[in-house]
Amino acid sequence: MPEDYYDLLGVPRDASDADIKKAFRRRARDLHPDVNPEDPEAEARFKEVAAAYEVLSDPATRETYDRLGHDGLRGAGGGPDFTGASVQDIFNAFFGGDIFGGESGPASGEDVGVAVEIGFIESATGTTRTMPLELVTVCSTCEGDGAAEGADLEDCAECDGQGRVRRISRSVFGEIARESPCPVCAGRGQIPSERCATCAGRGRRVEAQDVEVQIPPGIATGQRIALRGKGHAGEPGGRNGDLYVSVSVRAHPEMERDGLDVVTTISLPVTDAMMGTTMTVSGLEGEREIDIPAGVQPGQQIIIRGAGFPAIQARGQGDQRIIVDVKVPRVSSAEEREAAEALAALLEPGNYERTEENSFFDRIRQALR
Ligand SMILES: [Zn+2]
Ligand SMILES: [Zn+2]
Repeated sequence: MPEDYYDLLGVPRDASDADIKKAFRRRARDLHPDVNPEDPEAEARFKEVAAAYEVLSDPATRETYDRLGHDGLRGAGGGPDFTGASVQDIFNAFFGGDIFGGESGPASGEDVGVAVEIGFIESATGTTRTMPLELVTVCSTCEGDGAAEGADLEDCAECDGQGRVRRISRSVFGEIARESPCPVCAGRGQIPSERCATCAGRGRRVEAQDVEVQIPPGIATGQRIALRGKGHAGEPGGRNGDLYVSVSVRAHPEMERDGLDVVTTISLPVTDAMMGTTMTVSGLEGEREIDIPAGVQPGQQIIIRGAGFPAIQARGQGDQRIIVDVKVPRVSSAEEREAAEALAALLEPGNYERTEENSFFDRIRQALR
């Protein structure tokens, strides 16, 4: 008894026609000979899946199968049996030779998506990542024509050199005429007198490749780099798929990103805030000493112009914003209390007047230049 057709496609029994088609495309792609070269198990599996799709894609046979199962199809002359057909023939019958994309013309390659995580500083400076990928590529031995070195190319007898054939597929479900790429020459119109041994004449194969990706300075989490034509190779004459790299940026313990700005917080004792001090602050270009002016207020920001992230594909550069947090001490000993009282008695209301904000920032900027 063959395996349940719904299980073979991995869909529920109430799956829509579109879901069945989608499931079949996905399964077929997984089992494609380009992905599983010389794997008889994948080939046998593909033929079972194709038989399941043949039955479930037709409302009449699906209804029979739903009611009576495999026995019902046997009564109607037997379920589809592709065991004698070549995988390439079946692909051509269902997909017009194209499981990788478009409906007509040479097949385009599939897009590839990968994710990469980079460090916070790297996101500001830009970086390079080398990613090991399994890509369908044009066979480098035959450069895609499927011919062994020195082999002659002759017009394909099957299609008279046209590359396309009109075929009648006959099954218990009737006769269906389909125009499809010639299965003998894979749509090329010519066949070599001897096949390329590297790719078994397919012209493409799956290859492990180290792909170098340049990650530009200023990239942020969630942004995607598109590398046109760097995905899976198309069939001869078809375009390559694209490679999409989604970037995520690791958090930094001391710095945060806000638009193009990098934001840090410093925490200083109230006495330092009163008298001014110097501090070491982390930045995108490393640590730097900054002067904290006397009288700095809690929550005020010290701005370092141009020390933020660069804009991608645009002019401009963010700033570093240093937010000041002031720590207020508790007094516990009598001696501490006395000193605090003495200071309180000395200070006049004028000591608490805030500096004009603009002149405050002007002074900071000058101090930092
Ligand atoms: Zn080859
Ligand atoms: Zn042909």
